[in-house]
Amino acid sequence: MRFERMRPAQLRAAIDAGTPFVLPIGVMEYHGGHLPVGVDMLAVTEVLARLEPEVVLLPPFAYGAASHAVAGPEGTGNLHVDASALVPFAEGLFTALLRGGFRNIHGVIHHQTENFAQGMPTDLAFRLAARNAIFRFLESERGTGWWGDRAMRDYYAQHAAGVSPFDWIRIHPLFPPGNPYPFDHAGEGETGLMQALVPEGVDMARAAEGDHWYTETASAATAARGEEGVAIALAHVRSRLGLSDRMD
Ligand SMILES: [Zn+2]
Repeated sequence: MRFERMRPAQLRAAIDAGTPFVLPIGVMEYHGGHLPVGVDMLAVTEVLARLEPEVVLLPPFAYGAASHAVAGPEGTGNLHVDASALVPFAEGLFTALLRGGFRNIHGVIHHQTENFAQGMPTDLAFRLAARNAIFRFLESERGTGWWGDRAMRDYYAQHAAGVSPFDWIRIHPLFPPGNPYPFDHAGEGETGLMQALVPEGVDMARAAEGDHWYTETASAATAARGEEGVAIALAHVRSRLGLSDRMD
């Protein structure tokens, strides 16, 4: 289900059913001559599409902090938006969703997520924005001092039972840490993902273009290996979203 195609009654039904509402978070970044600039967003949107109709997909956010670490801006497709500009946008979006009654909100990101525990600018911006939005929403709904109120004395017990307002919005990497699928930039791993998910976007004849070190492994990629990566990502996201186990 796509958020933008749903009527209000369908949205309310999805909320009542506890359906996860998932925001794909991406960037536009140069990925060598053989891959499209939307690799990091497409990996997320195309994996999540395989979870429909168990999830509702929000329209993707495509304009994260790509950085110019890989390539400069001119003629490369790199669109870098500084993370400081993302925080107010994301906080506004999350606040709108909370006000709309959504309580099972997730963001999924692939860009620069090889060390997600410490974070990188785009995911940190959305993670901070989520926390800010929840704090501000709780304060607006419950008033200042809400946490210190006697009615909250079972706060930690509720946590232990898996209930926390800070779980209303969660941000996840597309892949679990330490998984066997190669994590790279436009190498075997991402090339395989695109061959599996967006084959029309791949032009292997251009894999050596630019003579980059990071594309040297791209020629080893296959769609079949990419599907193995997709399966790993799917199982990981299903578990993070609390979806029941299923053979994909
Ligand atoms: Zn990438």
